[in-house]
Amino acid sequence: MGQDQRLVSLSALREAETARMEASCIRCGACFEACPMVPFSAAKDADPVGAVVGVLDLLGGGAGDEASRAWTAACTRSGTCNEACPAGVDPMRMLRLAKWRASETGALPKRDARDAMARAKVFARLAMSEEEQARWL
Ligand code: SF4
Repeated sequence: MGQDQRLVSLSALREAETARMEASCIRCGACFEACPMVPFSAAKDADPVGAVVGVLDLLGGGAGDEASRAWTAACTRSGTCNEACPAGVDPMRMLRLAKWRASETGALPKRDARDAMARAKVFARLAMSEEEQARWL
């Protein structure tokens, strides 16, 4: 299968998943409340139901709102949301697909190499001595 065909089938899968999630999510907000990243993001004081509605909007190609964008960007795929979901939606996948869609529409900026390097340095600082940091970072 060529790259173009793979992209078409991935897009088709995303469309099918978007329709399934739109239909099965009961907008309860439990996934947002269970997320361990929310307290460390700009979404921390947001209304859980509003944040979920915003993520579904991102997933459908909309701009979402500030809280849904911050939550989507902060997701580290802990899977805690999936355990909390009473409807079998797979909210972890929902956020992942929303992030993909939002990077296409421009609702969320695409990550660039500087962003990846900044994250690598944060993790490196957690593991390196001050002397090693001075030498390598
Ligand atoms: S926990 Fe499940 S049903 Fe409830 S808002 Fe999140 S994805 Fe939707």
